Amino acid sequence: LWITFEGGDGSGKTTQARLLQEWFEGTGRTVVRTREPGGTEVGDLIRDIVLHHRGDIAPRAEALLYAADRAHHVATHVRPALERGEVVIQDRYLDSSVAYQGAGRVLDAGEIRDLSLWAADGALPDVTVLLDLDPAAARARLDAADKPFDRLEAEKADFHTRVRDAFLELAAAEPQRFLVLDATLSIDELSSAIRDRIAPLV
Ligand code: C5P
Ligand code: MG
Repeated sequence: LWITFEGGDGSGKTTQARLLQEWFEGTGRTVVRTREPGGTEVGDLIRDIVLHHRGDIAPRAEALLYAADRAHHVATHVRPALERGEVVIQDRYLDSSVAYQGAGRVLDAGEIRDLSLWAADGALPDVTVLLDLDPAAARARLDAADKPFDRLEAEKADFHTRVRDAFLELAAAEPQRFLVLDATLSIDELSSAIRDRIAPLV
């Protein structure tokens, strides 16, 4: 069983991924919790480039770096865990690329999706939870959290609005894979809505 979390920065993906992991572990399942970019040694090196390089990266080069990270991550970490029958809970996957490298950077969303699927050898999660949040609310959360420098978080508001809209479009196109939730709900409301969606699959 493979579950991915998507949504803008500050939408609460990491908190919900952790709570879902605890719930699964409470039922006796083995959980691999991972993230993109990153999740492997190679992935963490790529993550450092895409998140911390101070200066521009050509949009197509950035898209390929994410795709390379994804290819390695799926092949060496996600697929083997799924084959062992474990639960994989993942912070971001290819929908993030369509939203950020596609709509955010204004590359062609369909091409980014095709590139991502090629990189992942077609692998798609069973459920994708989209935590939908207005970019202004996200900004306020991130400012309050006082996190370290992140190249993407410095982007202008219209970038984040395009990203949000792209996520919602992706969810509308694949309603059977996506669970869309209002990220302003409480942590408990969100986690129980997520469990309600996933419990029948366990
Ligand atoms: O999910 P997390 O906060 O770790 O993501 C780190 C950063 O990478 C975020 O600022 C996000 O905007 C960016 N990102 C991206 N394209 C992706 C995945 C993440 O621009 N495909
Ligand atoms: Mg972040």
